[in-house]
Amino acid sequence: MLQDWLGLKNKVVIVTGGASGIGAHIVAELAQVGAKVIVLDLNVETGPSDSENVYNVQANVTDAESVTSAVDHVVEKFGRLDGLVNNAGINLPRLLVDVKGEHPEYELSTDSFNKMFDINVKGVFLCGQAAARHFAKAGEGVIINITSEAGVEGSDGQSAYSATKGAVNSFTRSWGKELGKHGIRVVGVAPGINEPTGLTTPAYNEALAYTRNTTVDSLNTDYRKVIPLGRPGKLDDIANLVTYLLSDRAGYITGTTYAITGGKSRG
Ligand code: NAD
Repeated sequence: MLQDWLGLKNKVVIVTGGASGIGAHIVAELAQVGAKVIVLDLNVETGPSDSENVYNVQANVTDAESVTSAVDHVVEKFGRLDGLVNNAGINLPRLLVDVKGEHPEYELSTDSFNKMFDINVKGVFLCGQAAARHFAKAGEGVIINITSEAGVEGSDGQSAYSATKGAVNSFTRSWGKELGKHGIRVVGVAPGINEPTGLTTPAYNEALAYTRNTTVDSLNTDYRKVIPLGRPGKLDDIANLVTYLLSDRAGYITGTTYAITGGKSRG
């Protein structure tokens, strides 16, 4: 059976931002293979969820105290911690300079810069540190960092978002080197263009269209031109890869980031 092949039954895994989008699909996939999954998200109430094998913990990844007490709560309640998926993230499309001058709100401000760096970078640091403290004691554990194709390739109108993901890629490489000797693996997963998620709001599409000098209707509709496999990524495609990377089947993989983009390499 698949769940036996992966060996994730009863493993305890925290998924940040697990209440929506990619995170929710990772949670469902892990629960299906028998893991005990904890959704760590702003948008949940702490306690058992409606789904078997899924427990919710309300926490804010940008707040050190909130993260530490959430992770400690999980370890106390479940008696162990085996994996962390750093998935919570936001993307605010912003131009460096609004040359047309029609929408100054889509020019990068310290406020939008700070928001993205707080959640996408500081959040990964805080959750990674809190989990790694437990993993180091146990002598094993896995951290998966959800980054983005934009973190390697850059992205028109999303330079700050792209920079946050570049920083996460550097955490992945550095933590891989630093934590390997403690039995901890750290792996990045970098999606490209995917099915819509909670991130893909009308406000996001409007900002993206303006920063790309196009209209909302013309945004990335003909995938055959940009994605060699001819379709956007399914959220389950990403969940499958994350599930595999958390398992011992991926036991020799650390300090690297996998693109999952249907062959697309520039955006
Ligand atoms: P989403 O908006 O659907 O979900 C994000 C979740 O994170 C939400 O449940 C939200 O409540 C939670 N969250 C936000 N701030 C938080 C905080 N401070 N503390 C705790 N939880 C918080 O987003 P998504 O599209 O599923 O994106 C998930 C990850 O995948 C992000 O890191 C994103 O950058 C990355 N990614 C997404 C895409 C895509 O196409 N959607 C592409 C590449 C990378």
